Amino acid sequence: MRDFDYIIVGGGCAGLSLAYSLEVNNKLSGKSLAIIEPREKYERDKSWSFWKTFEHGFDDCVKKSWTEFEIKTEKGTKSHSSSHYPYQCIDSGLFYEKILNTLKKNTNINFFKNKKDVRNNCSIIFNSVSDKQDDRSGLWQHFQGYEIEVERDVFDDKVLTLMDFNCDQKNSVHFFYVLPFTSKTALIESTWISNMNDRSELDYGDQIHDYIKNILKIAKYKINYTETGKIPMFNSKTTRSDNIIQIGTAGGMTRLSTGYTFTNIQKQSRYIQKNIQYINKLNNFSISKKYQYLDNIFLRVLSNNSSEMIEVFYRMFGCKTDTIIKFLSEETTLSEDLSVIRRMPKNIFLSALVGK
Ligand SMILES: Cc1cc2nc3c(=O)[nH]c(=O)nc-3n(C[C@H](O)[C@H](O)[C@H](O)COP(=O)(O)OP(=O)(O)OC[C@H]3O[C@@H](n4cnc5c(N)ncnc54)[C@H](O)[C@@H]3O)c2cc1C
Repeated sequence: MRDFDYIIVGGGCAGLSLAYSLEVNNKLSGKSLAIIEPREKYERDKSWSFWKTFEHGFDDCVKKSWTEFEIKTEKGTKSHSSSHYPYQCIDSGLFYEKILNTLKKNTNINFFKNKKDVRNNCSIIFNSVSDKQDDRSGLWQHFQGYEIEVERDVFDDKVLTLMDFNCDQKNSVHFFYVLPFTSKTALIESTWISNMNDRSELDYGDQIHDYIKNILKIAKYKINYTETGKIPMFNSKTTRSDNIIQIGTAGGMTRLSTGYTFTNIQKQSRYIQKNIQYINKLNNFSISKKYQYLDNIFLRVLSNNSSEMIEVFYRMFGCKTDTIIKFLSEETTLSEDLSVIRRMPKNIFLSALVGK
């Protein structure tokens, strides 16, 4: 068994992003890196979408970009358009391929299937494997998406549907997310925010089928790709140790109110890469305290008032387009924060603030 300077546990989005950032910035010369990843092969398994608010370096893995998006409720539709901040969707298959092609050129980077295959006595370990996979007490954003293909031109591929609340809410928050890639293909996801205890919510296939048939009015379609996921909307308490640094979702990179994680993973990778020489002496990279505080209040509101959430989202998306994008991408100024906060229903947010 070999010793390694660095070990990355989990070669998913965060693990590979970090390895890539270290490699392309020449931080691995004279160093050895082991990546522990159990999967047998890399293939497209996720679609990472976000507003592009900074150069992330993966434009060549973008499947599609949009400048227009909509929020739909029974009350009406909020339409937005931003040329400053396009909404991008990264194909994870292209992302894995790009990174693995780069990493394989460095013979000091080795992949292993199991932690037991490497010694870790004097390595710095970057861990992206979470221990909260089965926690049913917290809130999860859980979903399934079908990428479908139809024979006729039915989708307007210029406009994505960020949230369509025209569906059964049960006692949770439920919406459909539609990414039209072309006039004939789209990814359609049924998304819930709940503690996952109601098994009927997990019947995603029927929900997507009903939505395609009754709301999109499409009778015949072919499913080309499926993705399923659950994103924790809570952070687990991680103990910091000098030689283990948590990264990715396990390292608190998920924006708890939205589930967006990809861009924070890129910011975290950059931070680690820049400070790699003394990384074990620095504080972990984290989402700013301001957004952590606001998200905690938001999630308290969501837990206590799920039936009010459509109205909350509808009001929130009544803000100016760039303000709402910046708010959801952690880029707002204080006055922009206040313009979002002012739109929220006062009573339920005040109750959440005082802990009622
Ligand atoms: C289907 C899906 C869609 C998503 N869409 C978006 C989106 O649109 N926008 C966005 O910002 N975020 C999105 N997210 C959230 C987040 O960006 C992703 O979950 C992202 O992949 C998190 O990266 P990660 O490295 O923390 O976890 P992962 O990418 O899941 O990587 C963890 C890796 O650890 C490996 N592993 C598991 N067990 C072990 C073990 N015991 N030892 C070693 N390795 C192990 C896994 O095989 C995996 O490769 C999505 C999540 C999912 C699940």
